[in-house]
Amino acid sequence: MTARVLVVYTGGTLGMVPSAQGYVPATGLEDRIRSQLAGIAAVLPAYDLLELDRLIDSANLLPADWQQVGCVLQRHWADYDGFVVLHGTDTMAYTASALSYQLRGCNKPVILTGAQVPLGQPRNDAVDNLTSALILAADRRISEVCIGFRGRLLRGNRSRKVNSMAFEAFDSPNAPPLGRIGIGIDLYEDRLLPPGQPDFCTPDCDPEAVALITLFPGIPARLIDAALDSEQTRGLILQSYGVGNPPNADVAVMDALGNAIDRGVTVVNISQCHQGPVYQGAYATGAELNSLGVVPGHDLTPEAAFTKLHVLLGLDCPVDVIRETMSHPLAGDCTPIQAPGAQSS
Ligand code: ASP
Repeated sequence: MTARVLVVYTGGTLGMVPSAQGYVPATGLEDRIRSQLAGIAAVLPAYDLLELDRLIDSANLLPADWQQVGCVLQRHWADYDGFVVLHGTDTMAYTASALSYQLRGCNKPVILTGAQVPLGQPRNDAVDNLTSALILAADRRISEVCIGFRGRLLRGNRSRKVNSMAFEAFDSPNAPPLGRIGIGIDLYEDRLLPPGQPDFCTPDCDPEAVALITLFPGIPARLIDAALDSEQTRGLILQSYGVGNPPNADVAVMDALGNAIDRGVTVVNISQCHQGPVYQGAYATGAELNSLGVVPGHDLTPEAAFTKLHVLLGLDCPVDVIRETMSHPLAGDCTPIQAPGAQSS
């Protein structure tokens, strides 16, 4: 295998060590990896490892970290055939989504992985996930940002952490896997994105730019007002019920949303359901969001909707461009449904 892969280590369980307070990130991962993988080096691509200065438990992830990882990949893009990003599982889906929007026109594999049990611990999943990720990162058929975890290759911006304890920690509820890693490695090539022309953007994302609110019975309008209180907050991801329904009988709640949109906030509607899209108009409750100017986010995951809006706001796109872009697929992140009853042309 002649491919060369860059492994970027950001932190997370894979490289953690036990402490009196529980697992903590630890430096010096390269030596530990090389000794663990020494016996199977012949089947792996050549790789270099770059350890970030601030190794984190990914619960401490900030939007600035997406920019940092994106910039590292961009800086080394020409020097490697593929990339592995070692990341904590807690917020891996956010980073995978953010990278998919930063690395526009991606033409190489970027495989995020991590582990539920650290390298070197008994019964760990770290060696297996790392080995698979290295092999996948050298596969020229892949030209997109993916999560490779526990035998499955998933589109990064479709992925979610769905299990806090099981080795099968990730799923992509609204999109089928892109590949399976078993005895052999099967890629479903018809599902993979075609290679693009790199046109990367790694904007500075203001941590206050986007808020996320999950509706619940009796939600007070003042909670929405409070979330959008800062002038810096220019985007809201609204997780509504079912196919995108809000409590439209609550005039104050609807006014809070309408007023925000009128002053330039982009409000994107996604579903609280684990699977399925929003369709604003299936019910009169949801149809009201259309008249307010709420953008339907189709079947975007919360992580994809949140990071997509962050990246677009970070790029300072005009508000109409942001609203338009949020309602269309980008890097394979969503599937707009055709309105029931509409004729296909
Ligand atoms: N708390 C850890 C992290 O996200 C969990 C993990 O990596 O599995 O960094």
